[in-house]
Amino acid sequence: MVAQRSFTSSLISELRAIVGPAHLFTGPEELVVYSYDATRTTSLPDAVARPATAREVSQILLLANRRRFPVVPRGAGTGMSGGSVPVRGGLVLSFERMNRILEIDEPNRMAVVEPGVITGELQREVEARGLFYPPDPASQQFCTLGGNIAECAGGLRAVKYGVTRDYVLGLEVVLPTGEIIETGSRTLKSVAGYDLTRLIVGSEGTLGVVTKIIVRLLPRPESVETLSAFFPGIRNAAQAISRIMAGTIVPRALELIDSGAIHAVETHLKEDISAGAGAMVIAEVDGPAVATSGEIESLAEMCRSSGAVRVKQARDKNEQDRIWKLRRSISPALYTIRPRKINEDIVVPPARVPDILAEVQDIARRHGLLIVCFGHAGDGNIHVNIMLEEEERPQAELAVKEIFAAVLQMQGSISGEHGIGITKAPFLPLEAGEQALEAMRRIKRALDPNNILNPGKIFISE
Ligand SMILES: Cc1cc2nc3c(=O)[nH]c(=O)nc-3n(C[C@H](O)[C@H](O)[C@H](O)COP(=O)(O)OP(=O)(O)OC[C@H]3O[C@@H](n4cnc5c(N)ncnc54)[C@H](O)[C@@H]3O)c2cc1C
Repeated sequence: MVAQRSFTSSLISELRAIVGPAHLFTGPEELVVYSYDATRTTSLPDAVARPATAREVSQILLLANRRRFPVVPRGAGTGMSGGSVPVRGGLVLSFERMNRILEIDEPNRMAVVEPGVITGELQREVEARGLFYPPDPASQQFCTLGGNIAECAGGLRAVKYGVTRDYVLGLEVVLPTGEIIETGSRTLKSVAGYDLTRLIVGSEGTLGVVTKIIVRLLPRPESVETLSAFFPGIRNAAQAISRIMAGTIVPRALELIDSGAIHAVETHLKEDISAGAGAMVIAEVDGPAVATSGEIESLAEMCRSSGAVRVKQARDKNEQDRIWKLRRSISPALYTIRPRKINEDIVVPPARVPDILAEVQDIARRHGLLIVCFGHAGDGNIHVNIMLEEEERPQAELAVKEIFAAVLQMQGSISGEHGIGITKAPFLPLEAGEQALEAMRRIKRALDPNNILNPGKIFISE
C-alpha cells in the first residue's frame, strides 16, 4: 500500500465547505474503503468527498487546480484495471449521493440518470415500463453507470447490442479545469461539432467528471430463450462459437467457459454442473416469440453438430437465471483455485477465437502456468485469467507479453472492455503506436493542463 500523503487542515476546511462536513471523509477506516478496486491494487487517498451536484464537483476541480492535488472519480470500485485506485493519493470523488434516475422519457425511449445509479437498477426500472437498456456487464448488480461510461463497459449482450458507447446520447461533464459542459443532445442523431460524448466515453475518468447521462433505450424484447451446451473440450466449444457467428442468427449472448472456470464455479456453488465436461457454451436469443423458438433450436443443433455431449434449453425464467448465476459467479469463484490472478480481457476478430484459445493454451503449457479462459467469445472478447502463486509472477508476466503479442498479430486489441488503467498502461504503446499515443497525450494536456484528474492512468509516464 502506498503511504498516505496528507492534506493540510486548511485544504480539508475548503473541501468541507464545498460538500458539507458530513460528506468529507478523512478517517483511516474510511480511506481504506475507497483505496482499491477489483484488481485488488491498493493506494490510500488523502480524503474522500461525496458531492451532490455538478456545481460542487466544479468547485472541487477549481480548488484542485489551485492547490494542485489529484482528484480520482470513483463509482462502485468494480473496475478491472485500477482506474479508480488513487495511486497518487489526493481526493476520491464518490457518487453515492448522485444516484437518482432523473427521468424515463417513454415516448422518446430515453433515460436521464446521475452517475451513481447502479446499472441493474436502471435496467429493472426501464423493463418495468416495457423498455430495455442493453449494456449488461456481469457486475451490473453493483457497478454504476458513471463507471460504465468511463470504461465504455461491454457485457454479455454486446455481441448483438454493442457496448455502452452505443447507448449514450449526451452527457453533462465537469472538465478538469472546472467548466460544466453538455455534450450530445436528446436526439437520436446529431453531428453538431466534434463528438465530445464519444471522447468522454471510455476516457477512464481522465478527461472529465460525468455528472449526468442521457441514454437511449430500446423496446423490451418479447421473448428470450437460453441454452447451455457442454463439450468434451475447448476446441469443439470454440468451433461451435465460430459456426454460430458465421451463420444468420445473431445471438444476444454467446459465452464460452473453459474447464478451469467450470471447476471453480462447481467448487464455489457446491454443485455438479457439467458432469465432467471440458467446456461449456451459453447461448441466448431474443426477439418475437415466433422467431426465438426456432432460433434457439438451430443454435442447439449447431452445438450438437460441433460435438456437444449435452445441450439443455432453459424451460422458464428460473432456469435461465440459474444459467446466468453460474456465469456471473465465475470471477469470484476463481479465487477458490488460487489466491491471486492476472486478469486480461483480450479481444480478437470473432473467427480467430479458436486460434487465440489454442495459443493461450500453448503459452500456459510452455510456462507451466494455470490459465483459465471464459467470456464473451461471440464478440471475440475472452477473459484470460492467469492463476498465480506469488512465486509464479515472473513467468506470468512473460506469458502476458506473449498473449498480447499473439492478440495484436491476429489484429485484436489488448482490452475489449476493462480499460487500460494502471494494469495495461505499459502495454498500450504496443497497440496504439507512438504517434497515436502522442495525440492522446495532447488531448489530455489540452483538457487537463495541470494533470489533476486521475493522474497515472492510461499513460505510463504522466
Ligand atoms: C465480477 C465482475 C464482473 C465484471 N464484468 C464485466 C463485464 O462483463 N463487462 C465489463 O465491461 N466490465 C466488467 N467488469 C468491470 C467493471 O464492473 C466495469 O468496468 C464497470 O464499468 C466499472 O464500474 P464502477 O462503477 O465499479 O466503476 P469504478 O471501478 O469505480 O471506476 C472505473 C473507472 O471509472 C471512472 N469513473 C467512475 N465514475 C466516474 C464519473 N462519474 N465520471 C468520470 N469517471 C468516472 C473511475 O475513475 C475509473 O477510472 C466486471 C467486474 C467485476 C468485479
